[in-house]
Parts: sequence; structure tokens; C-alpha cells
Amino acid sequence: MRTLAVLGATGSIGASTLDVVARHPDRFRIGVLAANRSAAALADLCARFRPDQAVIADPACAGELRERLRESGVACRIEAGAQALVQAATDAACDTVVAAIVGAAGLESTLAAARAGKRVLLANKEAIVMAGAMLEAALVEGGGELLPLDSEHNAVFQCLPRGGATSADSGVRRILLTASGGPFRGWKAADLADVTPDRACAHPNWRMGRKISVDSATLMNKGLEVIEAHHLFRLPAARIDVVVHPQSIVHSLVEYVDGSVLAQLGNPDMRTAIAYALAWPERVEAGVAPLDLLAVARLEFEAPDRATFRCLDLAYQSLDAGGSAPTTLNAANEEAVAAFLEGRLPFPAIAETIERCLATTEVRPLADLASILDADLTARQQAQRIIASLSGSKPLP
Ligand code: NDP
Repeated sequence: MRTLAVLGATGSIGASTLDVVARHPDRFRIGVLAANRSAAALADLCARFRPDQAVIADPACAGELRERLRESGVACRIEAGAQALVQAATDAACDTVVAAIVGAAGLESTLAAARAGKRVLLANKEAIVMAGAMLEAALVEGGGELLPLDSEHNAVFQCLPRGGATSADSGVRRILLTASGGPFRGWKAADLADVTPDRACAHPNWRMGRKISVDSATLMNKGLEVIEAHHLFRLPAARIDVVVHPQSIVHSLVEYVDGSVLAQLGNPDMRTAIAYALAWPERVEAGVAPLDLLAVARLEFEAPDRATFRCLDLAYQSLDAGGSAPTTLNAANEEAVAAFLEGRLPFPAIAETIERCLATTEVRPLADLASILDADLTARQQAQRIIASLSGSKPLP
């Protein structure tokens, strides 16, 4: 029986995780459920899954959570605040932490879980982009293990030999991450000037939170995933490629020196990757419809349009620059995406903000958590200045 802390329980990954958990009450139980401000949704989940503890990151929402749990007769411990997330991630009663908070807000709890020797199921890609080397060190220090929930990395993990990509006899030449191309695949720069947040969030194949949906539309999601793959599989950027595959059936591929290419296929449903990581090394039913290849009929592949969707190359550039550059990339992206979703920034200015932020922010070595948080804050402040200048000079849609 595994006991889970689900951080980001009220989000899209949280919902898919809890769906798989509910199918296997003999294997998984919930120790902690955590959210940011969605007190009503968190209370409903607590009534259904009866965790030992509920954590709400925003203390202003703790009263509502307490009241709702009291009304529904749920007697679990209630904690509030960002530090409570870190404590929940290290809770002795939990052996598995699902890191499904969106953005940099998930960094400290993810690091804490790794350091505490937990099995970390990582969806929160921003954490590994910001602090990849530190997360690797925390896993070694704590003796924990990290299993990727991102469908692409989960696919690569499934296609790699047990010793990983870099063992002497792995024979791995490179990995290929697939990208759907997002809702604007085939569009040119001039078409993108007036796109709205709702249009950008209407992903053709996946239902996800709004931030990652915008990242998919700009191709930054794939850029973040390249950096994530670099840390997870310890491969240089030159051995990590991206190919656009509009059907999202092939979730990623590993190319070997003998010419073999192994791929993992399945319907675009996050429950496959989540079930694989939850039960690893076993496999369990995930509620996902079987793949009907005859209905899919065609699997297409094309090169990403790097000129129109510049975020992919910006991510490669930041990986090449090293040090704090990926932290800067992530912070600028989070600020720009938030501004776009709030209607303060046009879609094309997301890439422009990140590019200018990278060009004007010093690359520093990252020695510890304090230096990572400092680099994150510096980049956010710089991004805010750039966003103010860009949104002031351009009409919003
Ligand atoms: P959602 O926006 O759907 O959910 C985000 C979750 O994080 C919510 O539970 C939210 O709580 C919580 N949260 C937000 N801010 C904070 C905070 N400051 N402190 C504590 N909790 C917080 O996002 P997704 O589920 O789509 O994505 C989560 C992560 O998984 C992202 O890093 C994303 O890139 C990654 N991912 C997502 C995939 C998907 O299919 N959705 C696929 C692969 C990776 P509240 O509801 O209270 O706001």
C-alpha cells in the first residue's frame, strides 16, 4: 500500500491522479491533499478521499476550508501556508509525493520531498528547470527516486534500458520529444498578434491547466521539457531533439546506435503516465481507452517552426548558457504568461519578453536554494519592467 501526498490536488494533474487512485483502493491511499486557494474543491476532495491532512497554501482561504470540512463532517488535520506544503512533502506517513503544483511555487516542496527520500512523481516541470542540479543532488542525498509524469518523459523512461541513457552499454544515441504543435500549428507570426487567452488555451489534444496550455501554444512547453529531459536523463542538449507530431499518439522516442527507435504510444490521456509512475515497476489499469490504431490511421511528423515559435530555441539557448539562465527563462515565461492570461500582454510579446529578459539578466552560478530564489526574483522584476514597456507600446486585442 502506497500513501500519497498530492500537492496540486485541485488541478488537472491532481484530478487525473485521484482518478487513478480511486480505481485501486487496495494499492493507494491518500495521506495529504494540498491546493492553493480552491477551498471548496479541496474540501470536496477531502470528503471523497479522507486524507489525514489537508493543506491550503493561501492562509486567507484556511477559514473557508475549515468551515466546509466541519459542515461535511470530515475530521482531518488542516494546515495553511507555503511552509505547510514543505512539511506535507516530508510527512513521515507518506512515501510518495505527487508534485503537481504549477510553476515556481512547487519548487521548495519538490526539493523537500526529494531530500526526504520520497518517491517523487514529478509533473511540476518548472521546478526541475529552475533547479535541476539541486534536485538531482537532493535525490542523491535523500536516497529517493524521481519518476516523470510528463507524458513525454514518462514515454522516454519506458523506452530506456534500466540503467538509463548514460550507462556505458546503453546504446542510446538521442531522444526525440514529440510536440503536438499546439493550437497554432501552421500559423505565421502575423496571424498570432490578436489571439485571445481562451483561443490559446484550446489545445487540440490535451485538457490541461491554463498556464501549461499557453506554454504549449508558444512551444515553451517543449523548451521546458528539453531542459527537464537534460536533467532527468543526463543527456546534453545536442542529444535531445523535438519533432512535431500533431496526433499526440506517439508520446516520445529513444533512438539507439543500432538503428532501432523505441516509442511509447497511447491515447492522449495523462492517466497512462500517472498510473505507470504510481505503480512502477508494475502496471495497473488506468481507465484509459485502448488505442485504436485503425481509427487513428495516420501518424504524421514534421519539424517545429522555430522562427514563428521562438520559445523553443530560447530554452535551448538558456540550457547552453547554464547557471541561472534556465531559472531566468522560467521566471520570465511565468510572468509573461500570467500577463497574457490577464489581458496585459499580446501573445507574440511572450517570446519577446523572455528573449529580452535573457539578454539583459546576468548569468550567475547557482550554489544553493537562496541563489536560485534570488535569480528567480531578479528575473521576475526584470520581466515586469519589460512587460510594462511592451504592453504600453502595443494595443491589446
Ligand atoms: P492546474 O492549473 O490545473 O493546477 C495547478 C494546481 O497547483 C492546483 O491544484 C492549484 O491550486 C495548485 N497551485 C497553484 N499555485 C499554488 C501555490 N502557490 N501553492 C500551492 N499550490 C498551488 O495545472 P496542471 O495540473 O495543468 O499542471 C500542474 C503542473 O503539471 C504544471 O507544472 C504543468 O506544467 C505540469 N504538467 C501538466 C500536464 C497536464 O496535462 N495538465 C501535463 C504535464 C505536466 P488551486 O486550485 O487552489 O489554485
